Amino acid sequence: SIPLGFFGGIGAASKSGILIKGSNYLEALNDVKYVVFDKTGTLTKGAFTVTDIHPSGGWLGKEQLLELAAYAEYHSTHPIAESIRTAFGKEIDEERIERYNEISGYGIQVNVDGKEVLAGNTKLMDKKSITFEQPAQPGTTVHLSVDGQYAGYITIADEVKEDAKEAIQSLKQMGKKTIMLTGDSKAVGEAVGRSLGIDEIHAELLPQNKVEEIEKLDGIKSPKEKIVFVGDGINDTPVLARADVGVAMGGLGSDAAIEAADVVIMTDEPSKVAAAIHIAKRTRGIVW
Ligand code: ADP
Ligand code: MG
Repeated sequence: SIPLGFFGGIGAASKSGILIKGSNYLEALNDVKYVVFDKTGTLTKGAFTVTDIHPSGGWLGKEQLLELAAYAEYHSTHPIAESIRTAFGKEIDEERIERYNEISGYGIQVNVDGKEVLAGNTKLMDKKSITFEQPAQPGTTVHLSVDGQYAGYITIADEVKEDAKEAIQSLKQMGKKTIMLTGDSKAVGEAVGRSLGIDEIHAELLPQNKVEEIEKLDGIKSPKEKIVFVGDGINDTPVLARADVGVAMGGLGSDAAIEAADVVIMTDEPSKVAAAIHIAKRTRGIVW
């Protein structure tokens, strides 16, 4: 039977917007040693704004490059895609878009007006042997090509969440090791991670590489030390499932993420991770 105190713990957590899907996760939270965070949408707002539109080769204007990107990103739920559609701001004629294919961790491959368009990171360009320009400004960059010809890039900037720094500091004070995994570039990943005081930063990871990082950690830690992974669920559902405790952002996160997670933070605040561990500790105090 489940000790009554656990219901108290789960109830207390839910009052602070933390849904814990079972007493076993509340127990596991007591033994957490490693707290691994995804970056985009988890530590950052995932609300990007376009800061630079840079056509290359002179065959497209700025507005045309932005239109191309908005068409390419039309079907994507990624925060990057949303920011590009918002910047474009005009109606999209769905009939111009065919054969949409989102390549997780890379970007989009799609036909627009019958031409093959790629929209994504430098890894996607490398994969398709397209030579790209180095962006002038820091930030997440979406490179674009049409029928194998490089068209230019769009730079977008994200902001860290208000409570992200406090979230990391309180975990470190509790003796936890903090790690950030991101599919974004080393430059962006390290800038964000350092500003928050994260212990370890791993960038340019594909979704499967994030699972591998959790497995590596699993191999070196002692068996009773637990690993928490905190993500927004976009591209990281397998990681949520692989960690001892998978924590999803409930507001931004997809239904699949909420389904795969063991704990859901309804307010999207990363500082709620430390709060959940505190509640778990108090609950253990009552149960035993
Ligand atoms: P993170 O680990 O920061 O949450 P993701 O795994 O969601 O990032 O994505 C990793 C990288 O893949 C992004 O930084 C971006 O370069 C590229 N990418 C993913 N989805 C898209 C998209 N819809 N359009 C353009 N680029 C994308
Ligand atoms: Mg993400």
